[in-house]
Amino acid sequence: MAPVSKLFDYVVIGGGSGGLASARRAASYGAKVAVVEGSGRLGGTCVNVGCVPKKVMFNSASIMEALADAKHYGITAGAAQVDWGFLKAARDAYVQRLNGIYERNLERESVEYISGAASFGGSGEIRVGDGAVLRAEHILIATGGHPVIPAVEGAELGIDSDGFFELEALPGRVAVVGSGYIGIELAGILHALGSQVTVYTRTGQILRHHDAIIGETMLGEMKRQGIAFEHNSSVSGLRRADAGGPIELSWTRRGEGEQQHSAAYDCVVWAVGRAPNTRGLNLDAVPGVRLGEKGHIEADAFQNTGERGVYALGDVFGKSELTPVAIAAGRRLADRLFGGPQFAESRLDYANIPTVIFGHPTAGTIGLTEDQARAAHGADAVKVYQTRFVNMYNALTPYKPPTAMKLVVAGPDERVVGLHIIGRGCDEMLQGFGVAVKMGATKRDFDACVAIHPTSSEELVTMR
Ligand SMILES: Cc1cc2nc3c(=O)[nH]c(=O)nc-3n(C[C@H](O)[C@H](O)[C@H](O)COP(=O)(O)OP(=O)(O)OC[C@H]3O[C@@H](n4cnc5c(N)ncnc54)[C@H](O)[C@@H]3O)c2cc1C
Repeated sequence: MAPVSKLFDYVVIGGGSGGLASARRAASYGAKVAVVEGSGRLGGTCVNVGCVPKKVMFNSASIMEALADAKHYGITAGAAQVDWGFLKAARDAYVQRLNGIYERNLERESVEYISGAASFGGSGEIRVGDGAVLRAEHILIATGGHPVIPAVEGAELGIDSDGFFELEALPGRVAVVGSGYIGIELAGILHALGSQVTVYTRTGQILRHHDAIIGETMLGEMKRQGIAFEHNSSVSGLRRADAGGPIELSWTRRGEGEQQHSAAYDCVVWAVGRAPNTRGLNLDAVPGVRLGEKGHIEADAFQNTGERGVYALGDVFGKSELTPVAIAAGRRLADRLFGGPQFAESRLDYANIPTVIFGHPTAGTIGLTEDQARAAHGADAVKVYQTRFVNMYNALTPYKPPTAMKLVVAGPDERVVGLHIIGRGCDEMLQGFGVAVKMGATKRDFDACVAIHPTSSEELVTMR
């Protein structure tokens, strides 16, 4: 029997942040749209194994911290302990509710949801696992990415960030390998909830892609909290001597040659990066679609790949791998393709995208780091304002974690080209300042806004 063949205006591969947003926006213009999702559940990384379950765990960790602080405010809270099983069940139920909402949204908006793995059959043609053939003038690749597991002996004994969300119990001793934002966030959550955490980093720094004020402040604070760090380390393998016993992690340290160190853990979390999902798409059938150095799909500023009618965005495109970026790019693309002539130039501006690290403490950043600003504008044209202080929240606590803030300004008008903040409340603080930076605010504009007292954010408008 010949496979069923269906004709659409727009076929979206990947029912995650970018794909769903783009599909729904296209359907709102009356386009006939299909979303093909291979995992069996809608929402993609963010909803299932990313932002959403992570923020639930972050909230739980934050409550634990508040309970530890309670006594300094005269409140008797008793010894707090997490019921991991309860937390996981409640979190999973919430995610499942979201999966259902996403499915109903598609139904309500007449987007056809097709479950199965998609691959290209040729130009304008998609094949789905069960043999269905979909044809469309426009095809979006929004297949996201997956965690990388390093090629070392016994690597499979460790888990990745997906595996973190499957843990059935709070592990006792945990090694987190990697110190990008995912590693730092998971380390902070596990520590706050009661695990004994060691972070393995390849250099002496953490969060290296951010301004130095963030990494340095976060590192100092994590160490003060009792998280251990093995810097300049390279993990060489994992092994488990006895079934059900601990995992032995071996590593070498830079500068010590082949000398091996080892330590035992109940859980090892790989957080060494993510790679784009392109395998299985049969991209050979669309030779115009090309991959970049790190395997991401190449596209221009309008998300066009080199193949006519094929677009790519979100994590598979690899520029600012964040949910709101995928959503915004997806909506702009649908506007351009189906929204009429007024959207002919619609595209996402990838400059000045705010992002938050949900560590303990939280950190937020937008624009250029100090080093990037000096490289872009010239060392003499850049000025830095920074401050370091103790949040009033800690006035009564014996420990005084720092809040640190940096404004990077450029040119004679002192335009704010970078804003980097770390400390209590910085996650919620950034969005409003992000608007100002995106609008091109100058230091003088910041200073013209009267401070809100007593807050941390007031420091950003009173720096000298
Ligand atoms: C632990 C973690 C925490 C994160 N926290 C944050 C955060 O706090 N804030 C934030 O903004 N971002 C966060 N992110 C990043 C965010 O989740 C991603 O940037 C976002 O989900 C990317 O959206 P996307 O549409 O490109 O891909 P995804 O959301 O990953 O969706 C891709 C979809 O395509 C499907 N797919 C793949 N191949 C095929 C195929 N051949 N056929 C059919 N379907 C296919 C996949 O199953 C998936 O559902 C986090 C990520 C992780 C891993």
